[in-house]
Amino acid sequence: MKECVELVAREKLLEESQEALNARKEASLREGTNMIGSADAGIYIRSLYKRENVLYLIARTAKKKALLAIADQAVNFAFTGTSETHAGLSYQVVELTKENAPALHALFPFTKPVSLRDRRTTIGMGDRLGKATAGHIRAARKYQVAPVLAQQSIRELDFTDRDFAEVVADASFAVFEEGYEEGYGADGDHLKNFEAIDTALAEHMPMVTLDLTEVMKPDVADWAENKVEDAFNRLPDEFRDRVKRDFFDASFRCGEHTITIPTSEAKLCAVMYGPALDFSEKVNRHVKKKTNDTYDLEISIDETTTPTLPEHHVFIARELQERGVMVNSLAPRFVGEFQKAIDYIGDIDEFERQFAVHCAIAREFGGYKISVHSGSDKFSVYPAVGKHTGHRLHLKTAGTSWLESIRVIARKAPDLYRTMHTKAIQFFPEALKYYRITADIETIPAPESVPDEKLESLLEIAECRQLLHVSYGGLLSDPAVRSDFFATLHREEESYYNIIEAHFDKHISLLGVPRKKQARKAG
Ligand code: ZN
Repeated sequence: MKECVELVAREKLLEESQEALNARKEASLREGTNMIGSADAGIYIRSLYKRENVLYLIARTAKKKALLAIADQAVNFAFTGTSETHAGLSYQVVELTKENAPALHALFPFTKPVSLRDRRTTIGMGDRLGKATAGHIRAARKYQVAPVLAQQSIRELDFTDRDFAEVVADASFAVFEEGYEEGYGADGDHLKNFEAIDTALAEHMPMVTLDLTEVMKPDVADWAENKVEDAFNRLPDEFRDRVKRDFFDASFRCGEHTITIPTSEAKLCAVMYGPALDFSEKVNRHVKKKTNDTYDLEISIDETTTPTLPEHHVFIARELQERGVMVNSLAPRFVGEFQKAIDYIGDIDEFERQFAVHCAIAREFGGYKISVHSGSDKFSVYPAVGKHTGHRLHLKTAGTSWLESIRVIARKAPDLYRTMHTKAIQFFPEALKYYRITADIETIPAPESVPDEKLESLLEIAECRQLLHVSYGGLLSDPAVRSDFFATLHREEESYYNIIEAHFDKHISLLGVPRKKQARKAG
């Protein structure tokens, strides 16, 4: 890091005012350059911040990245750790760790995640590696969207050997690196119990995606009518009376759609969703209290085997409203297949018809956002999604940035790619226990038979995308892959950011989300 300190001295950066540094940042955004110096000894321009005569910045060498705090005299730095002197400057090397994140948040509050309740369009950009965020920001900052930059499920944490604190810290330092001050979200994704929720809240993640899969009783749909009847009669009186009053043979007008719930269906819904609704109510109360009412609750019912019927969506939405649950977004399960990493499978017209009804229901019952899960790479349905939500939506993507990191490997380190591909095939049967995909991986050409310059084209094959998408746990914990993979990604960081930016440009523009108006200079 000494070379980076020399760079600060040579460029006389400590003598510049914050205004002058800001002018550098604006120019770097305009011109698409992000570094002073080189990839072997460089300073990220947009990370230049001055606070009380101390200059803060993210620096990189060929091997690592760190935050530097630099002053032209001995001072007490805000981060813990020893300070050194070099090139006439006093400085501290701050590792980009979860231990150092709280001090970063205190110094630069914009690096801490916030509730995005009042933002119209939000996009979940899960970053399994904690290396893609700068690319996510570069795409998001061009459009009228708010990014959820920290987002992981417990499953992903287990597979990547990370915890929520690390996920938030990685996002926080990337936000600082990019000088992104517009606010971002952090989502504890697919949480199923209080223990997991509290772990996310402890790391100040304002978004909680409550996965109701395990408290819903989908098999009720197959019960005989008298069994449903019996179960309905055993429900608490108050709930049963309300269901009788509000839903028995009731019609609901949602925009141009009328949804009628026959009495038998109302009873079925009450039995099927009753415990899940009770649970949602408890969670909502808990999270509201713990976050002092600055939270984004997402209700997720997407991990079921059958599409969410409009009648069921109405039942759930109205009940949640009745119970005072502050739903920020809700993820129904849509018709067709939303498989990981590939485009929509199914009848696009049918999807659009049903999607429009779900949007109308959301508008009628509280105006929450419709959330589209497994949302990456569903290019053929984005125009319909954008249109019917009027961009009041949450699009959740998780693994696509991991997959794009493999594109970097295919381009820049062909042999490593072949190793990863071969190992992914070994890990595939295990990964299938956790991800529901239907890829026949036998159809993928063997990577040994593909010349270097064509390797990347494997990533256009749906089966290959899915193979690599779900095998991340095995690959990232494999000693023959892990260090090489991260070293390559560090070396090729700028290409990775560019690939991610282009990939999300495609997502956001197909949704039809408007671009941000360029800030016009005063005078
Ligand atoms: Zn989901």
